[in-house]
Order: sequence, then C-alpha cells, then structure tokens
Amino acid sequence: MTLASALSRFDPSKTLSQIGATADRLLARAGRLRHILAVAPFWIVLAKPLLPAAIWPESLWRTAPLLLLTPSVLLAGALGGAAPGFAATAIGLAIGLYFHFAPVGRVMAEGGVGLWSQAIVFIAIGLGSASFGEVLRRSLIQNRKTLAELRGREARLQSVIDTAPDAVILIDADGAIQAFSKSAERLFGYQAGEVAGQNVSLLTPFPHRNNHDFYLRRYEETGERKIIGIGRVVVGERKDGSTFPIELAVGEIRLEGRRFYTGFIRDLSERQSTEARMQELQAELVHMSRLNAMGEMSSALAHEVNQPLSAISNYLTGVRRLLQGSGTLDSQDPLMTKVRDALDRASDQALRAGEIIRRLRDFVRRGETDQRPESLAKIIEEASALALVGAKEFNVRVTFRLDPSVDRILADRVQVQQVLLNLIRNALEAMRDQPRRELRIESRARDDDRVEVSVSDTGPGLSPELEAEIFKPFFTTKSTGMGVGLSICRTIIDAHGGEISAKSLTEGGARFQFTLRLVPAGTLEAERA
Ligand code: ADP
Repeated sequence: MTLASALSRFDPSKTLSQIGATADRLLARAGRLRHILAVAPFWIVLAKPLLPAAIWPESLWRTAPLLLLTPSVLLAGALGGAAPGFAATAIGLAIGLYFHFAPVGRVMAEGGVGLWSQAIVFIAIGLGSASFGEVLRRSLIQNRKTLAELRGREARLQSVIDTAPDAVILIDADGAIQAFSKSAERLFGYQAGEVAGQNVSLLTPFPHRNNHDFYLRRYEETGERKIIGIGRVVVGERKDGSTFPIELAVGEIRLEGRRFYTGFIRDLSERQSTEARMQELQAELVHMSRLNAMGEMSSALAHEVNQPLSAISNYLTGVRRLLQGSGTLDSQDPLMTKVRDALDRASDQALRAGEIIRRLRDFVRRGETDQRPESLAKIIEEASALALVGAKEFNVRVTFRLDPSVDRILADRVQVQQVLLNLIRNALEAMRDQPRRELRIESRARDDDRVEVSVSDTGPGLSPELEAEIFKPFFTTKSTGMGVGLSICRTIIDAHGGEISAKSLTEGGARFQFTLRLVPAGTLEAERA
C-alpha cells in the first residue's frame, strides 16, 4: 500500500471516533477497577524492584519519593474519578512520608526538593486529576445514559414502525431511502439493507419512475402539495417485478435544516381481494337463499296442493266406480263416451300435477348439503361480517365467545352461513327500536359429539305463541316479511343432523341456538396425514 493510497483512505472523523470509542471503553473498564486504582501508589511500591533503575534510580526514592508516585495518582484520578483519586493521593502521601521518615537510613539527600513543597505539589496534582477524572467520569456516565435512552427510544419507535400494518418508508429530499420498515420488506420483497440509500423510484413501475424525482423537485421549488398530507392511490412494484395497487400517504419532516418525507403505504390488493371475497360470499349466499326460499316455498306448496290433488283423484275414482256400478259407463251412448273420456283425462291431469309436484320436490332436494370439515370460527366470522355490513346504522355491540376446542365441524359452509345470516339479520331487526342493542354469538361444547351455536339479542323476545309457530313456513309478524327465513334455517339444520330452537331470555331478548356435528377425531388425523 502506497502512502498516497493510505492517506486517501485516512478519514480523520472516523479515526477520531475510533479513538473516542477506545477511550470510552478504557474509561468504562477503569470505572469497574476503581478500588484497584485507589491503591495505585501502593502498586508502584510493590513493583519497585522491577522498575528499571535508569528511569527510577534508587536515590530518587530517597530524595523525591512523592515525585515517583505522581504518575500513579494522576492515573488513579484521571481514570477512576474523585474517590480513587483522593484515596490514591492520601495513600501516596503516606507512602512518601514513610520513605522520608523511615529509620533505615532514608535520610533526605542534600539538595533534594523540600518535603513540604513536594507534598503540596503532590496534593495539588492528586486533587486536580481527581477532579478532572470525576468530571470526565460523570460526563461519561451521563453520555452512556443518554445513549441508552436514545437507543431505547429508537427501539420503541422501530417496533412501532415495524408492527404497523402499513409499510413505512423514510426518504430524504433527493428521494434516497433512509428507513424501510419490516412491513415494507414484506410488501416489496426487498430487505432494508438492499434498498438503503437507493432512490425510492425503485419501488414504482417504469413509466412512473422518472416522475418521482420530478415531483420531489417541483415540491421543493413551488411548495405546491400534490400528495403530501393528502394521500392517493398509486402503483407499486415488488422486487420480483410484479405490480400492485397501493394507497400512499406522505408526511414531511424537517430535521436539522434537512427535509425528509415519510411514506405510509397500504397494500390495496389485499383490501381489494377482501372486498372481492365479500362480494363472492354475498353472491353465493344470495344464490343459496333464493334456492332455499324456492325450495321451502315449493315444498310447502307441494304439501298443501298434494292433499286437494289426492282428493280430486279419489273423487274421480269414486265417480267412475259409481257409474260402473250402475252399468251406464260401458254403454255406447255418445254422451257416456264423452264422460268416460273426460274422466280419464281428469285422472291423467291429476296424476300429471302430482308428478310435477314430485319433480319439483326432487329438484329442490337435489341441492342437498355438501358437508365437509370446516372451521366454525371462520364460518361465523364471514357470516357475521356480511350480516353486519350495513349494521352501523343499528349501532349494535357485537360480542363473540367461541370455544376453540369445538371448531372443526362437518358442514356445508354456505348453508350454515345462510342460517347465521338469517338469525343475525332477524336479531338486528328485532333490536332496531330497543335502547340496548347487544348481539352475542357463542359456541360451546356439548356432551355428545356436537357443538351448540347460539345467537342472542336484546330485542323484545318471543311470546309463547311465537315460540311455537316461529319455524313454520310463511309465519311472519312483519309487513314485508315472507316468513320463510326460519323455516329455511330449520331445513338446513335438519339436513345437517342438528336441531334448532328458539327461546326467550329471562333478562330480555331472544336466543336462537342450533347444533352441528363435530368432525370425528380420527378423521382429523387422517386429513392431516
Ligand atoms: P321474516 O323475517 O321474513 O318474518 P323469519 O322466518 O325469519 O321470517 O321470521 C319469522 C318471525 O319470527 C318474524 O316475523 C319475527 O316475528 C320472529 N322473529 C324472528 N327472529 C326474532 C328475534 N330475534 N326476536 C324476536 N322475534 C323474532
């Protein structure tokens, strides 16, 4: 390495900070060895035989002992602070006096520095270095405390940024990325280290890339706000090149005269897919509810119409028998031929009507339940989200209390959601004019292999007559009601091998509860395998 290249690498500020860090470490370590520093003069005396005589001649021990002990006092004071500095001064003074007055012929040499002058200088140096050391030590402790506080604050801020659902990115006035949160890493697929210092346009697809610098410059020049404090929907680009819609809100901060911008980014593709999923669910449920309503109505219709049809058929048979009995039916009278023909046709039509009704029933039955293992919590979550979409105006407090041990059920998801949707909507409607509006959705384990799901409200409750009639088709107390909702619920729960019931609560309101089968334990293991 040539000198020039070594010099070109030399960075004074880096070197200074390295020296500072080393001194800091040394002082911190010295702080821990304070009691050893306090007796530093004593160590010098102990090390006396090892000290080279050329530097510390024996004669000096006699003429100026305190002078020889001065470095130890300096060291103790500067590194250890007040207490070790004062202790070392006192110990040093005692040792010096000992060497001076010791009877072993340690008489002060002629021309040596006077003992008291030595002592005064020694004490001054000792006290001075102790005070200087103490100031240093305190500032060091203060520094360390401030640093720890700053680090703590930074860590707290970082954890807030990292756990925020929105991605957070900090850029400087030139668009260079200064901070990149964990959620930003997840969103864009870059690691914070990869993008640090890079231009933020990296995160936008090509046609918008160059615009970014232009926007920043224009804002710097004109101060006109196009996005800052407003927020808008833009397109982002992930590391793998895929693009996705984002909602970007930008804030501005000034730090020590420099301008920074913070970007809060929300992934709209997730929200859009959630909305799409909600719409899909809604469409499924609407379709199912139409089918169910049709089924319920046609089976009620079939039941009602079947009886008169059978009666018609029976009467026709009766008429035929009567005529046959009197012998008139077989006569060749043209009128009788017509009567016979009409009777045959009427019977055929009655049979045809019966057949139509049978087919209608079969068709409705064909949409039977497609039961598979499902998560009850998920079914409830989706159904209640859908039911509560427009419930803000009702101002209802909803609480869920679901037993996680009975979550795996055997069910037709859409059908069970239909039941929940009906029950929740009924409950919301029942509470519309009530002062207290609380909806409780619960699940609890039963003794058999079933789970009980209940929907309770704080509405007017159910009278005994209502309780008896409520699940019958076409029973309604509403002017616009069809009265098929609850009978559909019962059909669905019956098809699931469960039971549904309703009762009034003593504290007011009604509770609808139904049972569903749990997935048998063995099936779960087989599924996992
Ligand atoms: P619809 O809602 O069309 O009337 P339903 O079969 O869903 O049909 O409900 C039948 C009747 O049961 C309703 O008209 C209402 O009188 C009563 N009902 C249903 N749920 C509740 C409830 N949570 N509280 C009080 N009454 C209810």
